[in-house]
Amino acid sequence: MDYVDAHCHMDLYADAAAVASKASAADIGILAVTNAPFVFDACRKLLASNPNVWVAVGLHPELVGRYGGQVDDLVEYLNQTRFVGEVGLDYRVTKPSTHQLQRDVFEKILMACDRRHDSVVSIHSRGAESDVVSMLDEGFRGTCILHWYSGTVNSLDVAQAKGSYFSVNSSMIASNKGRNLIKRMDRSRILIETDGPFIKIKQRQARPLDVLDTVVGISHLWEEDVEVVRSIVMDNWLTAIGKPA
Ligand code: MN
Repeated sequence: MDYVDAHCHMDLYADAAAVASKASAADIGILAVTNAPFVFDACRKLLASNPNVWVAVGLHPELVGRYGGQVDDLVEYLNQTRFVGEVGLDYRVTKPSTHQLQRDVFEKILMACDRRHDSVVSIHSRGAESDVVSMLDEGFRGTCILHWYSGTVNSLDVAQAKGSYFSVNSSMIASNKGRNLIKRMDRSRILIETDGPFIKIKQRQARPLDVLDTVVGISHLWEEDVEVVRSIVMDNWLTAIGKPA
């Protein structure tokens, strides 16, 4: 495997099987996040023939108001998968009346992941970065990946000190703020993602193959060869999931 798209919503493409097989042909692994526990089984079935895809069980913070009651199902699924996401907090597009429930649900998920010892968790934190980071525990037994981190430098530093990884994408490369945050991240903590199909690239849906451009973007920021960056980012993934490079 040459690359891993560490945050992609495979179940939301109209042609998921074709997207998965193109990624596989290009040696791209995919952490396929999902947004609610009730879609996890269907997504696993949809992608079962793709050994390069890991399907994660999730409960998106924007859906906690509606599906928060399914958090126990998510915890139950942790007997079947170590991959978790999309989970976290969102204070930007959600009603304030859901924020406490979001925190309760996220806390419950983090505690259940910790009990597994080996969870890999893809975390959303838009507008809630400081609360997300303060809920991460230094002693957490597993791997936290802050997906599309867009908070302050201070919270970034705290997250990093607590052992978090960051999955970065084309939208971050395209913005000044995103580029500055990427430059601030330790090279050993950076992963790549597309957040497809939500992110658009030239009016089309981002696909796992677009991680190649993000590697090129990072290579400009680091003033390093593309292959050096690819290799560092791939090693980071293997370390993040606890496998030797
Ligand atoms: Mn997402």
